[in-house]
Amino acid sequence: MRKSTGQATLALAAEAGRTKLPDPVPGDCPMAIRGLTVSYGEKPAVFSVDARFAPGAMTAIIGPNGAGKSTLLKAALGVIPRVSGEVRVFGQPVEQARDRIAYVPQRASVDWDFPATVMDVVLMGLYRQVGLLRRLTGAHRAAARACLDRVGMADFAARQIGQLSGGQQQRVFLARALAQEADLYLLDEPFAGVDAATERAIIDVIKTLREEGKSVIAVHHDLTTVRRYFDHVFLINVRKVAEGPVDEAFTEAALNAAYGGSLAAPYLSQLELAG
Ligand code: ADP
Ligand code: MG
Repeated sequence: MRKSTGQATLALAAEAGRTKLPDPVPGDCPMAIRGLTVSYGEKPAVFSVDARFAPGAMTAIIGPNGAGKSTLLKAALGVIPRVSGEVRVFGQPVEQARDRIAYVPQRASVDWDFPATVMDVVLMGLYRQVGLLRRLTGAHRAAARACLDRVGMADFAARQIGQLSGGQQQRVFLARALAQEADLYLLDEPFAGVDAATERAIIDVIKTLREEGKSVIAVHHDLTTVRRYFDHVFLINVRKVAEGPVDEAFTEAALNAAYGGSLAAPYLSQLELAG
């Protein structure tokens, strides 16, 4: 039987994905990806993507709705299956580096009705330290409270997570990520639907992480703040469009390629683009 175009494309990607990352990938590289293809059906959502993220930097993943940004993060983490591709985190296969990664999913994808207090949610971030069978101690609770304090949510520890505003929930999930004491933070649209005060609070926390030498990769939808917030960009629309320092890679040509030329000239002219 003849293969459909979609199947043929995926077969091609699987073949291309057999090219390997160089061995070794430098141990300071927070995440290196080679030949990553992901598909929910026949049509790939992410196609043959290579990436190499910069250490100790804040990188924005940019692209239109449906470009595969969330899929890229989830597949890199191994939360959803890949058709092909290899991912190394700090030089190791991602499966062996899980405890160095903290992930905050896109808020819309989380079920907010589950019965848990803010403190419970942050304590989940400590599960590696606590262990599955050991008891929570006062020290664990103090550590969780300190993380809540960093995001300005210490007064809400006893509240049900479902009772908070979207911005407050986002802060709590960032606190949980902080509790993990990871080296790489993957944040999916951390500023989506939050007010200006929360955006400020979140960016301050992220900048502190960078000062501590941690790496942050964030899906980011607001092009007007890319220059102020980020050091590097990674543009994607199913395929990789561009990657590199904001000063080099955040160009009109790259944005036109990623957004299919749909961004208006007056808008583009506000973005202090490179090149
Ligand atoms: P982005 O985060 O860039 O908006 P996504 O990674 O969420 O994009 O989605 C990429 C594409 O894959 C979209 O066309 C989306 O509709 C599709 N998609 C995402 N999740 C699923 C899923 N669970 N099942 C089927 N299709 C999906
Ligand atoms: Mg998304």
